[in-house]
Amino acid sequence: MAWRSTGKTHQQLIANLKSNGVITSEPVAEAMLQVDRADFCGQSPYADSPQSISHNATISAPHMHAYVLELLQDQLRPGSRALDVGSGSGYLTACMAKMVGDNGTVVGIDHIHELVSFGTKNIGKSHSYELEKGTIKLIVGDGRKGFPSEGPYNAIHVGAAAECIPPKLIEQLANGGRMVLPVGPRNDDQYLEQVDKSQDGKITKKTLMGVRYVPLTDKEKQWPG
Ligand code: SAH
Repeated sequence: MAWRSTGKTHQQLIANLKSNGVITSEPVAEAMLQVDRADFCGQSPYADSPQSISHNATISAPHMHAYVLELLQDQLRPGSRALDVGSGSGYLTACMAKMVGDNGTVVGIDHIHELVSFGTKNIGKSHSYELEKGTIKLIVGDGRKGFPSEGPYNAIHVGAAAECIPPKLIEQLANGGRMVLPVGPRNDDQYLEQVDKSQDGKITKKTLMGVRYVPLTDKEKQWPG
């Protein structure tokens, strides 16, 4: 699956993600088609690979964005509430907003304020409506604590690898909700995990695949400047 979907244009990238079986559902295809990756990264936006966005952060590869949106699809229905921890470029936050629509809410949180400004600017290029309406709220903060005042969340995505699953995020998951997050040590031995909370609040976890993400860490460790 990895890397194969590079396109010359945004439409081609999405078409390749579909023909390679990464995007399998219409809502995910629709959302990704509406959010042009060129608004979010200056360099090789249609390559199916991560790109640097400064401050030791990367925009994830398109196939990873597609893969997590597919996993969260049932929890990203119109009207849902979602939390995107480590929102970085804002790409996935914007896609989530397209899926939850006008009556939904997506909170993107990042601990580097320059990246929150970057994400806000990127989203504002073509999706200022969602920012003005408050469908998208971008917050500076430690994502390991979540953002309880807008929760509980039907869908939680974490875009950086935690050493262990942050308990506050499990708390802020709604009944029937799903969280997808990479877990594991820095640069090594990380796995994408799916955490489901049943309608009666029971937690089940499933390990999906090996991955490599930047760490979910302290601000000073990521960017001492
Ligand atoms: N999902 C984003 C960014 C991925 S890079 C995208 O695809 O563009 C991971 C992001 O997690 C970085 O922006 C980094 O600043 C952020 N991050 C790392 N630790 C964090 C923490 N404790 N709280 C909030 N954000 C964090």
